[in-house]
Amino acid sequence: MSHEVTTFQPDRSFAIRMDESDDLRHFRSYFLFPANEDGSSKIYFCGNSLGLQPTAAKEAVVQVLDAWHHLAVDGHFTGDRPWMDYHRRLVNMMAPIVGALEPEVTIMNTLTTNIHMALGSFYRPSGVRTKILIEADAFPSDRYAVESWIKLHGLDPDRDLIQLHADDRGYLAPDQIRQAIYQTGEQLALVWLGNVNYYTGQYLPMGSIASWAHEVGALAGFDLAHAAGNVPMNLHDEDVDFATWCTYKYLNGGPGSIAGFYVHTRNHGFPRLAGWWGQDRSTRFDMRTPFTPESGAEGWQISNQPILSMAPLSASLALFHEAGMQRLQKKSRQLTEYLDYLLRQINAPGLEILTPSQPEERGCQLSLYMPGMAAGVYRKLLDSGVILDFRKPDVLRVAPVPLYNSYQDVWQFVQLLSTSL
Ligand SMILES: *Cc1c(COP(=O)(O)O)cnc(C)c1O
Repeated sequence: MSHEVTTFQPDRSFAIRMDESDDLRHFRSYFLFPANEDGSSKIYFCGNSLGLQPTAAKEAVVQVLDAWHHLAVDGHFTGDRPWMDYHRRLVNMMAPIVGALEPEVTIMNTLTTNIHMALGSFYRPSGVRTKILIEADAFPSDRYAVESWIKLHGLDPDRDLIQLHADDRGYLAPDQIRQAIYQTGEQLALVWLGNVNYYTGQYLPMGSIASWAHEVGALAGFDLAHAAGNVPMNLHDEDVDFATWCTYKYLNGGPGSIAGFYVHTRNHGFPRLAGWWGQDRSTRFDMRTPFTPESGAEGWQISNQPILSMAPLSASLALFHEAGMQRLQKKSRQLTEYLDYLLRQINAPGLEILTPSQPEERGCQLSLYMPGMAAGVYRKLLDSGVILDFRKPDVLRVAPVPLYNSYQDVWQFVQLLSTSL
């Protein structure tokens, strides 16, 4: 992928010029920022944890409440946005964000629930093929889910869970993943990895990992929580078997919002945990027809859909649709490289960036490792109106997102960080 080189400059006027020439700058006004006491906006670098509220979210929710009021039960089939098909309009906009075909994507449940739905289908230990490969530093919920499925099958996590240990800076070399896959060989049932590590921000090459897994007869699935809306992906072309992601992080769907779910076309015939909302639409309400799943990822749905949870997400996805992931990535890389550049300029003793420096190996997040200082610096930054994320014991995660963050946000943040050191 081509990689634009901009010669950055350390002064504020440079940040102002970059903002003026940014063709995505108007998207900032489509989001609601928390404010300081004096009314100025806080600097928000926590889109990796909870994305900001789109200004259009409220209206989208009110639209659903109005339909419920005026149409009541008929809202399922009538009105401007009938609830029966509400998710399909979201899927239209979601599929390109993860690089999937529309029938490969649905919107349902929440992330960990979907991890269970996926493991129910795609972890099918048999004979010697019983093992799952994960990161030693996987997000706890992912680990709990995987361990619970190993136990549900009467197997033993001590034996059947293989863990990839990153180096002491948190970096996981792709070659190490390849070796672990080949070494496990015919005993490997499944690879389950986060494609952007929540802690270090490292991006993993999904296509290579999927092809290594396939070579030994295993499946490859990914948790896209920190990638969806952050980096463009090509799930279909890269032959990823299945994936799931939450929508409250970079996708700005609101706290606890509904999650995304992807199954490659090749895998649409797998058995699954079934419910009536995955039943073929033509017989869904017959009530006595045996389970025959709707085609595609929709056939994994289990319950009728939480429309109120989808409404804010529809407002946000419309913005992604308008901006486009390619343009967002272009700005994202510049913005994050600019942050990287300014951090190196202040050259703070004891501050190290854990996130890989190659743009191909990261999204927008930089993880700042500050042993012994992180907690104190975090407090000071909070007091100066910066919202970011502190991970015990020593890491600050900083995520300038291209949809609503500016070059001036980054410049100001680095000034405040420098003062607080
Ligand atoms: C945010 C996150 C989760 C959260 O799971 P929920 O079910 O939405 O609470 C799980 N896994 C990863 C990797 C995450 O980043």
